[in-house]
Amino acid sequence: MCLGICIVLCACIRATQIPGTRKNGHGFRHVTSDNVVSPEKTDSIEENKDENQGVNNVTQNDDHDAEPSASNKPDDIDKVAYLTFDDGPSTITEDILDILKKEDVKATFFMIGNQINEKTKPIVDRLCSEGHQIGVHTYCHEAGSIYCSAETYYSDLMKAEQVILEYTGTAPLVYRFPWGSANGYIKGFRKEIVCKLSDMGMEFCDWNVSGEDSIGTPSAAQIYKNVKKNFDKFSEPVILLHDSATRKETVKALPDIIKLYKEAGYTFDVIKNREKPFQWMAYD
Ligand SMILES: [Zn+2]
Repeated sequence: MCLGICIVLCACIRATQIPGTRKNGHGFRHVTSDNVVSPEKTDSIEENKDENQGVNNVTQNDDHDAEPSASNKPDDIDKVAYLTFDDGPSTITEDILDILKKEDVKATFFMIGNQINEKTKPIVDRLCSEGHQIGVHTYCHEAGSIYCSAETYYSDLMKAEQVILEYTGTAPLVYRFPWGSANGYIKGFRKEIVCKLSDMGMEFCDWNVSGEDSIGTPSAAQIYKNVKKNFDKFSEPVILLHDSATRKETVKALPDIIKLYKEAGYTFDVIKNREKPFQWMAYD
């Protein structure tokens, strides 16, 4: 009952805060043409605990991306990059915010609910006041807990959403599946989750460029190199990086990543200003 009330309340808050909230249809589309990756192609992610390993299979295959490449776009199309940081808030969040502020760049942070508390509230407050967007990642980020069923996933996500709402006063519009939407854990109930949340005005967001900074312990130079290999394939790249205590090399790489995009003519924005979040799967 409480969950039901919460769903209605959150949906209402979103509807009032965000005019024209998107409503996707319910027809889950396993696209057979080569413009979207089907989840089956990346089921091996289930075996892989590194969160952005799976995307390598996606981004390294040009034929399987849903978006036109930047080079195929007319020159008058704006090039906008979307930096996203998973797993915060953390001890490096403020370092990231310092760089974003210095560079006058906005980003989106997909947060872990159980890391948002009175101690990290000042970081969350600063992040909001400086114009960045908060999305939901998970409450506990433990695959064995959240991916048992649609119900356990939904429960975890709603728990995180409630913490974000409590601390920011704003219900998040976007969420990101740990290990991405093509992860094998949710193969049996992906459609159920996505449609239910879409009805509430929430859309998931994957990525099409990755720093691969959660795979092992890459150096800043390697993270930069990982981004660079795909950075200009899209007019609206969504770049995956991580905001966690062990990712100090990500902080070191960030100024050069921003410079790379700026010099290529990109500006930066938050996901809610994108036409729609980038998704490996599409809906009718
Ligand atoms: Zn994560």
